Amino acid sequence: MPRHPHTEVLHQGEGACDSAMPLNRPIYATTTFVFDSAADVEAFGRGDSDRYLYSRYANPTVESAEVKLAVLEAAEAAIVTASGMAATTTALFGLLSPGDELVCSSSVYGGTLKLITRWLDRFGVRVRFATLEELGDPGPLLNAKTKVLWFESPANPTLRCADIRQVASACRAHGVISVLDNTFATPFNQQPLALGVDLVMHSATKFLNGHSDVTAGALAGSHAVIDRLRDARTLFGGVLDPAAAYALARGMKTLAVRMLLHNSNALRIAEWLSGERRVARVFYPGLPSHPDYAIARGQMTAFGGMICFEMAGGYDAACRLFDRLALVQRATSLGGVESLCSLPVLTSHYGFTDEQLQEAGVTRGMVRLSVGLEQADDLIADLDQAMA
Ligand code: PLP
Repeated sequence: MPRHPHTEVLHQGEGACDSAMPLNRPIYATTTFVFDSAADVEAFGRGDSDRYLYSRYANPTVESAEVKLAVLEAAEAAIVTASGMAATTTALFGLLSPGDELVCSSSVYGGTLKLITRWLDRFGVRVRFATLEELGDPGPLLNAKTKVLWFESPANPTLRCADIRQVASACRAHGVISVLDNTFATPFNQQPLALGVDLVMHSATKFLNGHSDVTAGALAGSHAVIDRLRDARTLFGGVLDPAAAYALARGMKTLAVRMLLHNSNALRIAEWLSGERRVARVFYPGLPSHPDYAIARGQMTAFGGMICFEMAGGYDAACRLFDRLALVQRATSLGGVESLCSLPVLTSHYGFTDEQLQEAGVTRGMVRLSVGLEQADDLIADLDQAMA
């Protein structure tokens, strides 16, 4: 019996096209997947099928981004999430139980600090913060209750570095899961798993995607850890939309070429800033003047696109520079093709007390620069005129 066109429009032209072999994994814009029979669904339930059930569990486009991240981080497995913070909550709430202790570097992204201080203790997890100096000798920080150690290197926004091998091996010796936020370095410049870390976290919003048009997060590590966190992500619900996963996968294909220019531009600008009398200090791990230069050289192949510097005139001078920028955009976030400038005390560390700022190594005159892919001479000219 012929069916009504408004019935047919729902069913015609859908599903896979078996004769097409696309070069790129398409966007599987579907929340659910079709089965042929009850036996098919049964096989899926037994784990005896390569079918898909529901996009919150798994989606082929999302998996494409996960495969690429696992390759880049030389990990057994990876998952992507709806934001960097979703990756962080998935990892922390997926790995910790009431009564456990978390050791966290005090030099981490402000959002991570806020999540830990405002939410984790409500679930009976004890948190201890450690300075970078304390992380230099991690053994005494860990005890039988410590389950996870969370750190960043280079850290946001100071670009201070921790000795990743040392932290990771102390964690292994104490049965503690080490987690490194590798957002600033990217897997192009730093391979934390090869240095002994158990789990790598990313705000994929940044360099991994690279075009300031996707909010995403990621975790990479062993099958055992990622399988557990995949379950946590599925049940917490912080999954990445397939369209965003497509854009992220595309971004990761050009990570290497983008990072080459981010790295070289940032090094040139950091060197220029170092010779500037209007600048009190420059924090870039690729400069011999950086306090952690030796550590950075021992674990990074290049030093990334992030620079932090402190204006000699303090907060007022930082604001003046910020207001006068003409090419560099006044915006938070980082890792995109266009250069961005932010003042940490107004963004990632907004509302922090003087003591908290001091612990994080942040000052009121600090300027953070995410160096993009413009020509370095144009960026230097913009900074020069903005400081005039
Ligand atoms: N980690 C670092 C180092 C970050 O800079 C950010 C965001 O700025 C995050 C984590 C959180 O990521 P998202 O904003 O994608 O949730």
